[in-house]
Amino acid sequence: VNVEIVTIGDELLLGFTVDTNAAFLARALAAMGVTVIRHSTCGDERDIIVHTVREALNRTGAVITTGGLGPTADDLTTASIAAVFGRDLVRNEEVVRRIEERWQRFKRPGPIPESNYVQAMVPAGADILFNTEGTAPGVWVEDARGRWVATLPGVPPEMRAMFTSSIAPRIAARQQGTPTVVRSLTVRTTGLAESAAADRLRDVAGELGGLSLAYLPGIEGLDLRLTSRGLPADQADAALARAARIVRERLGDFVYAEGDTPLAAVVLDQCRASQLRIAVAESCTGGLLGARITDVPGSSDIFHGGLIAYDNRVKRQLLGVLDSDLVEHGAVSEPVARQMAKGIRVRLGTEIGIAITGIAGPDGGTPEKPVGTVWIALDIAEGRPPIPRPDGHPPLEPLTRARVFQLIGDREEIRERAAQAALEMIRRTVAEMHHLSVS
Ligand code: ATP
Repeated sequence: VNVEIVTIGDELLLGFTVDTNAAFLARALAAMGVTVIRHSTCGDERDIIVHTVREALNRTGAVITTGGLGPTADDLTTASIAAVFGRDLVRNEEVVRRIEERWQRFKRPGPIPESNYVQAMVPAGADILFNTEGTAPGVWVEDARGRWVATLPGVPPEMRAMFTSSIAPRIAARQQGTPTVVRSLTVRTTGLAESAAADRLRDVAGELGGLSLAYLPGIEGLDLRLTSRGLPADQADAALARAARIVRERLGDFVYAEGDTPLAAVVLDQCRASQLRIAVAESCTGGLLGARITDVPGSSDIFHGGLIAYDNRVKRQLLGVLDSDLVEHGAVSEPVARQMAKGIRVRLGTEIGIAITGIAGPDGGTPEKPVGTVWIALDIAEGRPPIPRPDGHPPLEPLTRARVFQLIGDREEIRERAAQAALEMIRRTVAEMHHLSVS
């Protein structure tokens, strides 16, 4: 089945609303094995809606629209679709009943505004797609040749609910044979440049069993998305799992997860398995690291808290950073980062302390420490039993490690990258400890 999407609304054309509806529909349809061959956007103008939908219908015979179903004057979709099919608008009593019932349920005062009843005017012969999340119903209109247009509301949760309950089953019923799917699996890496990944994955295409591989660099790292097209669901899953294994082997320990798992969730799982609790001291990230960790539900057993230490006095008084180091090396320096990490760990009584101090810009850079210079330090508890190492190496003592990063991007990107780099430092350190203690 091929489908076109038409998203409707002036706000979309003006750029004030980002078209997430089209993205949702494209992904949901692809997952069902439906190909979206074109996506158009048009404004709230009747003639333009009629023209856009008619063209799409003539090309593809199957069109899904979103937006313009509300009760106001700029909501013209239903009338436009009636015009495309040359049908009259007729009042649907079931829609009227639901509008009235909803008005009472939410105890709205006064009589129902007349404009609400406009929503009960639907093209003759249309199937009504009832809106469980709002009042505006969608319609499914089909002609004698089986060509159809389905209308969905613009409000994203309403749109998603109606697609899932009303549109997806109708389309599925039209698919013949074993349905094939478009399915993706993402392998997530951090700390690996796109070019370095490309080198490691050179020649891999032949081993991926026809799956496509997309490089998706982002602030948090490089995601590699494998996509299977044209296979039944179980075969697609098996092919994706096999290909992901190959990609993981090539990229080694730069890989931290599959799917959409964030690095913070991986770190929390690791720390939970090793009984390590975390405290953070943040300067230039202003709480972002703590936010990333606490974004993960259930983080409170591992994440104990942190301090946003901006002013040097806070670093001195609450973290025990030596004044002499602040004066001699500056706040963005290795000794200060190490002392911040140890200071927060000791004060909060955790096994891990992690600290970030850097220059996020746009001001504050110097030739020696340009914008983007970030020191990250990690401190592991004293008092834990030393971890044995193989081959006569000395046991891994409580450790402090620190590293300077030169991060690129604007202020926001530098802060995001710093938080990610800090999480990655925890992940690698804990993995190393675990590896040493089990080997
Ligand atoms: P309502 O019943 O609320 O009037 P509607 O179908 O008339 O719904 P619109 O008025 O077109 O929908 O849009 C309502 C809101 O939904 C917009 O203000 C916008 O926030 C959001 N919206 C509309 N279209 C999209 C889209 N394509 N992607 C994301 N959000 C959208």
